[in-house]
Amino acid sequence: MKISLNIAVLILMILIVQALCFNAVAQSPGTKSSFPNPKNVIIMIGDGMGFNCVKAADYFYGPMQIESFPVKLAVATYPAKSGEFDEKDTTKLSWAAGYNPSMAWKDSLYLRKDFTESAAAATALATGRKTYNNVIGLSVTYDTLRNLCEIAKSLGKSAGVITCVPISHATPAGFVAHNKTRIHYSELATYMLFSSRCDLIMGCGNPEFDDNGKKLRGAWKDSKYVADSNLWLSLKSGSGIQTSFIIKDKIYQVTDVSGDRIPDPWTLVTSEKDFRKLMSGKTPKRVLGIPEVYSTLQQGRDFGKNETKNSPPFTTPVNPILPTLAEMVRGGLNVLDNNPKGFFVMIEGGAIDWANHDNQKGRMLEEMRSFSDAIDTVAAWVNKHSSWNETLLIITADHECGDLWGGNTYTPVADNGKNKMPGLKYNSKDHTNALVGMWVKGKGAEIYNLMAGETDPVRGRFVQNAVIPQLIFMMWGKPVTF
Ligand SMILES: [Zn+2]
Repeated sequence: MKISLNIAVLILMILIVQALCFNAVAQSPGTKSSFPNPKNVIIMIGDGMGFNCVKAADYFYGPMQIESFPVKLAVATYPAKSGEFDEKDTTKLSWAAGYNPSMAWKDSLYLRKDFTESAAAATALATGRKTYNNVIGLSVTYDTLRNLCEIAKSLGKSAGVITCVPISHATPAGFVAHNKTRIHYSELATYMLFSSRCDLIMGCGNPEFDDNGKKLRGAWKDSKYVADSNLWLSLKSGSGIQTSFIIKDKIYQVTDVSGDRIPDPWTLVTSEKDFRKLMSGKTPKRVLGIPEVYSTLQQGRDFGKNETKNSPPFTTPVNPILPTLAEMVRGGLNVLDNNPKGFFVMIEGGAIDWANHDNQKGRMLEEMRSFSDAIDTVAAWVNKHSSWNETLLIITADHECGDLWGGNTYTPVADNGKNKMPGLKYNSKDHTNALVGMWVKGKGAEIYNLMAGETDPVRGRFVQNAVIPQLIFMMWGKPVTF
């Protein structure tokens, strides 16, 4: 009797414990569901957009929307190895020295060394690994690294890249392709068009037009950005239909993007009118958008008579026959949101860096406006067609460029009021190893706050660039990337 009572008590206790456990799992969101899993992830990269570009834009136009984002951090951008990549002599590359916050604010020349460039930075931001400068999507031992587009596709999501510079330039290529060097544009474009399973690729590189969007009468520009001139003609004539192409005697077949094993042809969009059409209503399944201009949407257009590098933005009116980055983004999101499982997209303000390299203050501010408008377009899309509870939006830069410090070193950009050129000065024509900014909003944003374990005396807490995709892999349940 005594034994059976004990057994009864034991059984009762087990039942109570089970009920409590079950209750705990049922009532709290539980370990599995409490970890955020954003349906859509949007990464926007201002190429070469240092903190001072953002500050200059804030002063000239009024604060950018990102200033009100809930998570604001800094990012260290240095590569694994710096220097110019030379396949024949890899000893030229040295291990990068990292980022030392104390040195960065003690020695003004410290940041001019060991900086990254867009290929290594894009690789870090897309795959979670730092690599050699100029390398696309490969590790320091040349292993192929899986990028965010590939991970998204493996989850049945859609994926794409949108930029205002050529589609095969380092940043978009770094989110899609794999190559030992960024200058193999034709190989990169070929990979993007025929090996990747991306649903959307938008950017410049149209060989039939110059940088003013003028159709060339004689010879075309180099077709490398879109792989090959014959391929370009075939893409145009076979838009939306053709699945096999011949480039230099090799046959290339488009991939299947939806998992039904049927190859999905690219629908080519080039005119401003057709870009606008993409912005609403039904869209083709797979879109290649190449506006009618060569290397950038607007940054490369000729300077008018009155414009100098120091002139305010829009001294020379923009070329109205081209889509804006914001219009491309609106159309691109309309293509990607057809997938009920969600999507990943990388959107690049690519020419901020180009203006910085040329030390063009006004053009840099024009590109900041274009990027800021694209951010507003994305935020409006989230509010109308998604929600911050299912979409994660990350704005960052791949590196600083121009050592932009307003006058003397470490002198901040001066606020001269709205629509007045801010006081700023370029101190370099190249990149630096300065920290850049990161602004995060939406599902999972708070995880980035958790990961920011290092502190800079001026910029505050910072993360490594490679952490940005690592956390997305984890949130998506794909912590193992190879
Ligand atoms: Zn650059």
